[in-house]
Amino acid sequence: PGILHVVATPIGHRDDISARAIETLKRVKVIAAEDTRHTRPLLQHLGIDTPLVALHDHNERTAVDGLVERMRGGDDVALVSDAGTPLISDPGFRLVRAARAAGLRVSPIPGASAVVAALSVAGLPSDRFIFEGFLSSKAGARRTRLNELAGEPRTLIFYESSHRIVESLEDMSAAFGADREAVVARELTKMFETVLDGSLASLVERVTADPNQQKGEFVVMVAGREEGEEERLAEGLRVFAILKEELP
Ligand code: SAM
Repeated sequence: PGILHVVATPIGHRDDISARAIETLKRVKVIAAEDTRHTRPLLQHLGIDTPLVALHDHNERTAVDGLVERMRGGDDVALVSDAGTPLISDPGFRLVRAARAAGLRVSPIPGASAVVAALSVAGLPSDRFIFEGFLSSKAGARRTRLNELAGEPRTLIFYESSHRIVESLEDMSAAFGADREAVVARELTKMFETVLDGSLASLVERVTADPNQQKGEFVVMVAGREEGEEERLAEGLRVFAILKEELP
C-alpha cells in the first residue's frame, strides 16, 4: 500500500522547505492541500506538477475516504497545509487518523512550524511549554480560558491574527498580570519580522501605539507563573511532612 507523507511547507520565506519535502512532493501521486489556490504557486515556484486535491475542514470527512482508498491501492499521498506543519492549527487530523486506522504508514517530512520557530528565538524558558493554538474570538470565552491558565508554570504559546492582537494582549495582561514577561513574534522569516519582548503592559502599549505592529501573523508567548517565595515555603513544608513520616 501507499504511504501518507505529512509535509511541512514554509511559514513565510519560500526557501524554508527541505530537499526531502521537494523530492516527496514531486514523487507522490497526489497532494492533498488545505487550499489548492494557495499551494499551486508554491509548486510552480518549485517546478512541481503533481495533481492537487482539496482537503479542508469542510470536505475532510468525504475527501478522506477517497484518499485512503487510493493509498490502499498503492498510491503515495502527500498532505500539506497553507503554511508550516499540517495539523498544527491546520487541517489534516481526520486524514491522519483514518490512514492510521486503516493500518497505512504515515510518515513526516518535518520542517517549519511557527510555534517552534517563535519559541526558539523568544528567550523564554523552553524546557517545558504548552501550546494553546488560537484563543476564542469571543471575548468572554477568551477571558475565561486565560484565567484558567493564569497559574500555569510552563511557558504559554498562542497563535494570533492581526484582527485581535491588541485585545488578546490586553486580556492576557488582565489575566496574568501587567508585569508578566512575554514575547510577541510577528511575521517570522518574512520581510517585516519583528520580535518584541517585555512586560505584558509594555507590549500592550507598544503594539497599540504602532499600527504597523498590528499587521501580519503573530505568535504570543507568555512566561509561566513563577513560583513565589510563599509557594516554595509551602512546598518545602509539604515535602518535610512526608519525609518526617518516613524517618525513624
Ligand atoms: N500550521 C501552521 C504552523 O505549523 O505554524 C500554523 C497555521 S495557523 C492557521 C496560522 C497561524 O500561525 C497565524 O495566525 C500565526 O499565529 C501563526 N503563524 C504562521 N506563520 C507565522 C509567521 N511567519 N510568523 C508568526 N506567526 C505565524
